[in-house]
Amino acid sequence: MKTTENEPPEWLGGPTGDDDSNSDAHRDEAPRPPCPRCGKTDKVVPIIYGMPAEELFREQEAGLVRLGGCCLPESREGPWWYCTRDRQEY
Ligand SMILES: [Zn+2]
Repeated sequence: MKTTENEPPEWLGGPTGDDDSNSDAHRDEAPRPPCPRCGKTDKVVPIIYGMPAEELFREQEAGLVRLGGCCLPESREGPWWYCTRDRQEY
């Protein structure tokens, strides 16, 4: 008895993952350290240094960022984060 299995040809093997070209770079945001006062991160915004664009002023008014001025902090420790709930820079 001859077993003639109809095996699928190689080109039917499945997707080769050719459409993996995802041009949308995933934005990896730095994890926000929790606020030293309330211990939460939900009201924490990054402090932006440098000459702020007009857009950043709007974002600050919306509570999305904190403008730190045009000069970077002298310390590497920052502050880089701002808790809008406690008005705490850290
Ligand atoms: Zn806080």
